[in-house]
Amino acid sequence: MFLDPTSWAIRKTPWGRGVFARREVPAGTVVGDYVGLVDVPRDEPVGQLYAMMLSLYRWVYPPSPRRTVGVHVINHSCAPNAGLYPFRGHVLATTIRRVFAGEELTFDYWMTKPEPGEDWHPCFCGTAQCRGSFALGSARQEELVRRLFVGPSWAGARRKIRPGETLQPLPRYPSRTRDLSAYNVFGHPRLPPVRHHAARLEHRPLRALLRESGRRVELPKLGVVVLGSHDGQLLVDARGPRRSV
Ligand SMILES: [Zn+2]
Repeated sequence: MFLDPTSWAIRKTPWGRGVFARREVPAGTVVGDYVGLVDVPRDEPVGQLYAMMLSLYRWVYPPSPRRTVGVHVINHSCAPNAGLYPFRGHVLATTIRRVFAGEELTFDYWMTKPEPGEDWHPCFCGTAQCRGSFALGSARQEELVRRLFVGPSWAGARRKIRPGETLQPLPRYPSRTRDLSAYNVFGHPRLPPVRHHAARLEHRPLRALLRESGRRVELPKLGVVVLGSHDGQLLVDARGPRRSV
């Protein structure tokens, strides 16, 4: 379900359908909640919306495709603007940077590496960061997924959630979700960058600026543009500012 359905629209895409912002939305905005039936992992019936991982041993299945369609149709990108946020035993969808009106909302699906002969989940997200597959591309990211879903930070691990339990909407949601280091943050690839007059490349404040502005960050004193925060490091275009449309 969407928390604020007036902020989001489901539109057709070349791949099927996706979720688009109707207005500008700040970083850390809760987009929606994966409510539904908790069960052990299994293939979804044909025509069913995608289930969401709650932990290694529990998935959440949306109860009715027509009534609950929302966060379930967010598409994959290798440079996404949204992520999952553990909260009181639920999986929330949240924006990980500012999202702009008309922009498609995307997750990194973080799928496990396929075994030989299995579908390798090819990706055509078209971003500069595309790794060619929905599967993870770095040991660090795989470690972060493990921490997020099975470690002590995972709110679902603090109480027993049994198969057959139905997750209902919570009485209260966070007004803003905090920045989780598990997520890489990239500025919008086409909007003009914001200018920052720092003379040093410091990860923490620049990541905060990427997240809050939703844009790449130009540092004129250094003649570089910071494209994103990737695997705990700044991704920098040292060829200098490039003007975009
Ligand atoms: Zn991709």
